[in-house]
Formats: sequence, C-alpha cells, structure tokens
Amino acid sequence: MAIVFLSLLLLEIVILIRSVIGSTLKSDKPIISTTQYLRHIEEKNPTISYSKQLMRQQDSIECAVCLSEISEGESVRKLICKHTFHKDCLDEWLQKCLATCPLCRAKVLPDEILAKYDRMQSQIEYDGSDEEMIFMLSALYGD
Ligand SMILES: [Zn+2]
Ligand SMILES: [Zn+2]
Repeated sequence: MAIVFLSLLLLEIVILIRSVIGSTLKSDKPIISTTQYLRHIEEKNPTISYSKQLMRQQDSIECAVCLSEISEGESVRKLICKHTFHKDCLDEWLQKCLATCPLCRAKVLPDEILAKYDRMQSQIEYDGSDEEMIFMLSALYGD
C-alpha cells in the first residue's frame, strides 16, 4: 500500500517538475519585441535623407503608403527591391502587416528574424487576413 502511494507521489512530482520546466521553456522562446524588430529593419534598410540626386532619379517619387510625394530631405527607407517609402509610413506598415514591401511584397528582413517576430505576433490574437488588411488600408488611403 505504501509503495503504491509513494509511486503515485513520485509521479505527481514528475508531472509538477515537467510543467514547471515546460513553462520556463515557453518563456525562453526566441521571440523579439517590436523595438528589436524595428532595430533589425533599421540595420537592413537604414534611414536615409531623400535626395533626387542621390537616388539618381529624374522624376519625383511617391510613397505608396501615404500616396504623397516624397520631398527632398525627408527621412526615407530604400528597400532591397529599390522601392522607397517614408520611414514613418513604412515602419507603421511593417508593424501592422508582414515585413514585406507594400508594393512588391519583397521581404525586408531575413527569414530567421521574421520567424521570431511572427511567433510573437501570433501570440497577440489576430485573425484578419493580409487581404483584409490591404483592403482596409486602401479604403483608408485610397479614394
Ligand atoms: Zn508616406
Ligand atoms: Zn518593393
């Protein structure tokens, strides 16, 4: 009788230890905060002061997020895909949507960083699809 009781107790302890270890492992998940995420964006797509000459562009360009013309001296980010946006507009977009270019959907960050950020984002309940988000944005900014 005593042996059965002891083994049950032992089992309970094992379960308890497992759940404790489990929860600490969960909190150790390699996730990054929005601040870190933005830092990575800055690293990969540094903010520059817009200048037509510097960009070797003849015509003025438009920021596809706010649909207004980018003027000389404004803070912009030029992505790998060569699309240019206002820094603030792009950062907002990248936090709301996926870390992709608003125009061509080119990834702005390496997959391993995105995976970490995605994991954190998925902890915050969000069930809207990309398409819905794009629709919402176009409804907001378009006419
Ligand atoms: Zn803009
Ligand atoms: Zn692009």
